[in-house]
Amino acid sequence: MNTAATPRTIRIHPADNVAVVVNDGGLPAGTALPGGPTLVHAVPQGHKVALADLPAGTAVRRYNVVIGHTAVDIPAGGWVNEQRLVMPGARSFDKLPAPQPPAELPPLTGHTFQGYRNADGSVGTRNLLAITTTVQCVAGVLEFAVERIRQDLLPQYPNVDGVVGLTHSYGCGVAIDAPDAIIPIRTVRNLASNPNFGGEVMVLSLGCEKLQPERLFPAHAIPIQTATDAPAAGAAGPWEVPTVPGRETRGGVAGFGAVCLQDDQHVGFMSMIDSILTQARGHLERLNRRQRETCPASDLVVGVQCGGSDAFSGVTANPAVGFATDLLVRAGATVMFSENTEVRDAVDQLTRRAATQDVADAIVRELAWYDAYLARGQADRSANTTPGNKKGGLSNIVEKAMGSVVKSGNGPIHGVIAPGEKVTQKGLIFAATPASDFICGTLQLAAGMNLHVFTTGRGTPYGLAECPVIKVATRDDLARRWHDLMDINAGRIASGEASIQDVGWELFQRLLDVASGQRTWAEKWGLRNDLVLFNPAPVT
Ligand code: CA
Repeated sequence: MNTAATPRTIRIHPADNVAVVVNDGGLPAGTALPGGPTLVHAVPQGHKVALADLPAGTAVRRYNVVIGHTAVDIPAGGWVNEQRLVMPGARSFDKLPAPQPPAELPPLTGHTFQGYRNADGSVGTRNLLAITTTVQCVAGVLEFAVERIRQDLLPQYPNVDGVVGLTHSYGCGVAIDAPDAIIPIRTVRNLASNPNFGGEVMVLSLGCEKLQPERLFPAHAIPIQTATDAPAAGAAGPWEVPTVPGRETRGGVAGFGAVCLQDDQHVGFMSMIDSILTQARGHLERLNRRQRETCPASDLVVGVQCGGSDAFSGVTANPAVGFATDLLVRAGATVMFSENTEVRDAVDQLTRRAATQDVADAIVRELAWYDAYLARGQADRSANTTPGNKKGGLSNIVEKAMGSVVKSGNGPIHGVIAPGEKVTQKGLIFAATPASDFICGTLQLAAGMNLHVFTTGRGTPYGLAECPVIKVATRDDLARRWHDLMDINAGRIASGEASIQDVGWELFQRLLDVASGQRTWAEKWGLRNDLVLFNPAPVT
């Protein structure tokens, strides 16, 4: 146990001139640090203490990276916080290190899970009916229908885990032909084919919206627009491209169908609900026939992110996630790390780790695009940090980024995808997304994520309906208080009870268990955050 009697600090790198206070509740002024200075100020848990005199203008190093310069004289044993630290400017994209990737990590074999194999080769960890929407207007009707499906239909299909309405704020009132509109559009499209939905695509549209079903799913629009035996778009009731067993699927879609609320056949609200339930039945029949089978760990597509970070994030949870990332990549899986503003200050580390020059160029392309996006809104990467981050000891985005990027482990970076794109590659992928928990999670779902790892220090009850979220606490205190919300306690690393490797292996094993059907705390309580699209294009 940490008590005031046994002061504990963590210095990440021998060259660092600050260390982080570990003790719950922090340490009072006058505390003598073992082998270090005596505290001049009271220093809260997770905050930095100067290990040497730091006159104004001194470079402050954590992770052996300059996270800022002292704004005032700080004596040894003094508290280094955001008010006393001047943030460095963003690293220029000029003269970045050329790729010098680390050696490929040694293969790790023999790890499997029980998953749902799809026709396109992807593997689901859950068996869900997802209903895609083209526009927010239909959300209320869909919510009503989903409740009916849950009560009246799901009991007849016991092998289906649930029904999810993929609602969002897009679809109309937007500049849909603006170049950047491709991001929300392809996100909605690719969300529909997440591996957890079994290749069943069911669409609910209004009728008059800008994001027409045929624009969303062009491959399926062709027969609707041209075939004489199919109803004209917007003119008839539920339409479907029937699935014949053994028939070649299109774009990984096994069964496709849509309901349009403005169709003439709908007279009264209940006729809409009936159409939706009729359409849902066909999809549920097929989903109910899915069976779990033994799949190699290489079929996992894991998205990692953090939220509600503190100074421990980069010491305990994120390094443990990084260790598990390496295990997953060694096992042949896909791991996506994201959160543009939290890797921006580590861009030189990323280009160095890029497997090829093309990957390095793509990393810079995505981060430069994001810089420009932020600049259009007269902001920059420093807008990322929250009051909670600062209270938790993270002085600025540079410090936060250095602790965030370690989730990506130590191997080469094999690929890059832009926001909303589908990942098609194994290995370690930089999936460019905003750091917003909900937008990052939504974009990783669209990329094809079938498991989500989420680290938190301040604590967030984050969960997704579409995919299991395994939450990792950075501190003992959080894991203790939120014992029925946090799935893994990485705080044991700070207290010395476990190593980064111990927690990394524990997380890896838990990922396989959850992929096989074991429920996370968020699933047990039914905690679900909204999907939130990234729309950098104008609204009208
Ligand atoms: Ca985040």
